[in-house]
Amino acid sequence: MKDYHVVVIGAGGAGLRTAIECARDERVRVAVVSKVYPTRSHTGAAQGGLNAALGNTVPEDNPEVHAFDTIKGSDFLADQDAVQFMCKHAPEVVYELDRWGVPFSRLNDGRIAQRPFGGASFPRTVFSADRTGHVLLHTLFEQALARDNIDFFNEFFLLDLLHDGQRVKGVCLYDIKNGEVVNLRAKAVVLATGGFARIYWQRSTNAIGNTGDGVAVALRNGLPLKDMEFIQFHPTGLAKTGILLSEACRGEGGYLINKLGERFMARYAPEKMELAPRDMVSRAIEYEIREGRGLGEGTSAYVLLDLRHLGEAKIRERLPQVRQLAIDFEGVDPVYDPVPIRPTAHYCMGGVHVENYMTSSTLMEGLYAVGECACVSVHGANRLGGNSLIELLVFGKFCGMSAREYAKQVDFLTLSPGEERKGQELIEGLMKREGREKLAEVRRRMGEITWEKMGIFRDEKSLWEAYQELTELLQRWENIPVVDKSRVFNTNLVELLELRNMLELARAVAYSALHRKESRGGHYREDYQERDDENFLKHSLLWQEGDSLRIEYIPVRITSYQPAERKY
Ligand SMILES: Cc1cc2nc3c(=O)[nH]c(=O)nc-3n(C[C@H](O)[C@H](O)[C@H](O)COP(=O)(O)OP(=O)(O)OC[C@H]3O[C@@H](n4cnc5c(N)ncnc54)[C@H](O)[C@@H]3O)c2cc1C
Repeated sequence: MKDYHVVVIGAGGAGLRTAIECARDERVRVAVVSKVYPTRSHTGAAQGGLNAALGNTVPEDNPEVHAFDTIKGSDFLADQDAVQFMCKHAPEVVYELDRWGVPFSRLNDGRIAQRPFGGASFPRTVFSADRTGHVLLHTLFEQALARDNIDFFNEFFLLDLLHDGQRVKGVCLYDIKNGEVVNLRAKAVVLATGGFARIYWQRSTNAIGNTGDGVAVALRNGLPLKDMEFIQFHPTGLAKTGILLSEACRGEGGYLINKLGERFMARYAPEKMELAPRDMVSRAIEYEIREGRGLGEGTSAYVLLDLRHLGEAKIRERLPQVRQLAIDFEGVDPVYDPVPIRPTAHYCMGGVHVENYMTSSTLMEGLYAVGECACVSVHGANRLGGNSLIELLVFGKFCGMSAREYAKQVDFLTLSPGEERKGQELIEGLMKREGREKLAEVRRRMGEITWEKMGIFRDEKSLWEAYQELTELLQRWENIPVVDKSRVFNTNLVELLELRNMLELARAVAYSALHRKESRGGHYREDYQERDDENFLKHSLLWQEGDSLRIEYIPVRITSYQPAERKY
């Protein structure tokens, strides 16, 4: 067993930025744990960019306009003080990255370039061609590697938290490389395990590993999850696979057209057109398909993303990865042909309830949550493109400071013999398990339920069915054996652990969605099509007690902007 002041679970943008901040004090020993090699974290797949009101292209832009755009985009469910905090600190964390070596795309005069993005009043999104996440993640990893007081636990899987009900004591990990269980004692633990949009197994932009492990571990340990009903569907997933084509396609001037060649967004958002927020554009595409103005049929129906008018030179310079993805996975070169697209599950607005946005602390002492696994909430019911990467950096920085200072003040807690054996017993139990269910079969069914019954459109009946069927799948999960008995890289065992986490979170989404009887942002109920501020201008908190779930609501913090109808 090893001791660390701070253990950070996750080596994506959120985890690395937090760890770097913790390590600023050389006396503080930090562990970063990741189930994949750090540079394979999903942050590396981000394409379009991150938002900061630098005012480089339009001088009138400023953090307050950024905050207003974010609050409006959130359908007024974001906590306004937290949003203002994020937008105020956004420019400083971008310049920090610039100095650390992120190769941002530039204007002719050498300043950082900014592109238009959905729901934004001005071109505000800072980028590096369409590989922003890749360069950001690699730069943060270099910065973390350069610090001697950070140890990496690569390819270690978080099994559980160790705590006494009030305060965190450490974590219990599974070493994927050799099958050993390792406990780390910690004064502070930071969850930075990313999102869970893979619960939409068949159609998602997310990495296969985005299974929400940290969120599920928090739920099982008695912590509440906030706003789980809000899932973001990205409008432009490749038709056949759901792989993302960045919002930058529309930011750079791409059109959406239906079978009749119409730019149909004129019907839904006449002012912003293709650059309306994602929830609106996704629904617009699905309406076009429903009303027979799409192409293809059934689940493979689609509309078209037209980039041809941008010309080859601009596509090469600004959208090289998008072009390659369209060629490789859809067989279409956007320089010559429009690309078939359809909405795809992309981002989770909900997550572990963060109780204090300035520290990222949760309801358990010493436990923090940051990045996509956390719900602060700065995105409310709908996140604006480019606001997630900036969230990781701003809150990662402040969370790192808080966890570091907290860890310097408290002592380690002792682990009981039962706690020391907890992980080992879990793994042994799973390896011995017998049963006839098949992992792939249960996971496939989960993907069908999530997409069909709790997708872009939902209602009472579909959500209730989803909740019940997912509960049944959780029972079937108990009878899935681990067929591979080896200790080295047992991906069968890891996938089994991930599947349980996804099933629990999918059920949490269905349950929260069932109770929100209104439509807001990414949550669209066909049986309650209007936003209902009188009854639902509030955050949901979902608790798991034994096998049952319970919902509570807490107020939204409104500091500056009264809710108004959201028009674009
Ligand atoms: C294709 C795509 C494009 C995107 N483009 C943009 C964009 O242009 N702009 C923007 O703002 N946002 C974008 N987003 C959203 C944004 O990239 C993510 O929300 C953000 O990167 C999440 O970062 P994170 O650090 O919270 O998690 P991740 O980057 O997902 O990292 C999670 C980390 O946790 C570790 N982990 C998870 N489970 C365990 C476990 N059980 N044990 C140990 N370690 C574990 C993983 O190994 C990983 O290191 C995009 C998302 C996708 C999917």
